[in-house]
Amino acid sequence: MKLVIAQMKHETNTFSPVPTPLSRFATSAESPPEGLAAVAAYRGTGSAIAAFIDLAEAAGADYRVAIAAAASPSGPVHDAAFEHIAGRVLAAVAEGCDGLLLDLHGAMVTQSHDDGEGELLRRIRAIAPALPIGVALDMHTNLYDAMAEHCHVIAGYHTYPHVDVYETGQRAGRALLAMLAGQAKPTMAWGRRPMLPHVMRQGSDDSPNRELQARCREIEAEGAHCASIFVGFPNADIEFAGLSAVVVTDDDAALAQRWTEELLDLAWAQRAAFVYPQEPLAQSIQRAQQIAAAKPAGSGPVVLLDHSDNCASGGTMDTMTVLGAVLDAGLDGVAAFAIFDPAAVQLMIQAGVGAQVTLALGGKLDMPAIGLTGQPRTVTGKVRLISDGRYTNLGPMFRGEASDMGASAVLDTGRVQIVVISDHVEPHDLAAFTAVGIAPERVKFLMLKSRIHWRAGLRSLAHAVVDCAGTGVCSSDYGLLGLHRVRRPIYPIDAI
Ligand SMILES: [Zn+2]
Repeated sequence: MKLVIAQMKHETNTFSPVPTPLSRFATSAESPPEGLAAVAAYRGTGSAIAAFIDLAEAAGADYRVAIAAAASPSGPVHDAAFEHIAGRVLAAVAEGCDGLLLDLHGAMVTQSHDDGEGELLRRIRAIAPALPIGVALDMHTNLYDAMAEHCHVIAGYHTYPHVDVYETGQRAGRALLAMLAGQAKPTMAWGRRPMLPHVMRQGSDDSPNRELQARCREIEAEGAHCASIFVGFPNADIEFAGLSAVVVTDDDAALAQRWTEELLDLAWAQRAAFVYPQEPLAQSIQRAQQIAAAKPAGSGPVVLLDHSDNCASGGTMDTMTVLGAVLDAGLDGVAAFAIFDPAAVQLMIQAGVGAQVTLALGGKLDMPAIGLTGQPRTVTGKVRLISDGRYTNLGPMFRGEASDMGASAVLDTGRVQIVVISDHVEPHDLAAFTAVGIAPERVKFLMLKSRIHWRAGLRSLAHAVVDCAGTGVCSSDYGLLGLHRVRRPIYPIDAI
């Protein structure tokens, strides 16, 4: 049995000014790894592609990893990058294989295609019309018909923060291998509801997504190969942004359809619970101060979530609104992770550890899609530490995978330690803090540019969480985003 395995993962924020060339799909290299280098990069990690590799080896298959390409969320994928990665997958398929396992995202938009995954699968189908294909997808998939029409199995994550990525790969891979062994006939149904759940309300520890994902697991326990609800990614102005469901049964189309409709109806009934009302920033900062004043010593930080500028949703990670409010309010005992500003890092490296510097920090990237220009903030402090910014994730999210925040430095104002980085990394893992000498459990306030994923590695440390509405292309304010191309009517933009 000959298998091809490949990964192409990108969550595209169509409002993001952060470019997505091929180099963004590679850690510390110009292009993503292929073949044995890809196996070495991912074997033993918590990724879906690692599950595919394990399953292929356990089955004694002759397998080849065409390419393993994953990029941090940002603006539309450059056409050249898409063509490079898709070209590697197509070339491997063209050499002949019995099955294909794909680790995709599901919300990839390229410069030329709103449905990047559907375009990839359509091209594969064009050269291999009957090839069995299994796909693992992120819970933030914006499902287009072409994705489901051109493969046999789809499995989506059941958790957000995404801590079951490996298990999702196992579900997709097992169903496909059973099909190849003649032991299963995967049969898929899918559908959508016209709703755009806010990301801040999508956490799978919280209602209603907790119950929706629990029902998916029940359906799998009742016999489905895979049952998935995709909460969707709303910071993408494309027709089919929003919530969807896919169920794969064994040779029972009617049951797949019935379960799909049940999941969609459950989600639709909860649509109001997916709406996120924002608190004004000044009120949030005041509330955080009150909580900190009342908390017992040693009880962990008050987390300040700068959720409008989360790089793992395509944020520039350099807006200074929330950090500015923290500085203006005179909060002390703060660690802030992080401000993306490669030029500021270079200035700090030139000044050296211990030097006092005054910098125009952050605000380097304009956000024309939402009518904002970058607003740097002048900050004075001491250079406390310089790092190469490389670390390995402890997990539970992206366990064992390498992360690279590029040349990094810590600027200490006396009250606030500001981590400044040169490559986008969301703070969801303790190792990111260890890499820059910060013990997050010991600070009074922990400002994070994150929405939900920070919970994976840091929630257990937090005394309290205060959402802080700043500025950025991850805003939960759909009015600010101006979603023009999404299908209408759609809830909550329209009161249906
Ligand atoms: Zn996701």
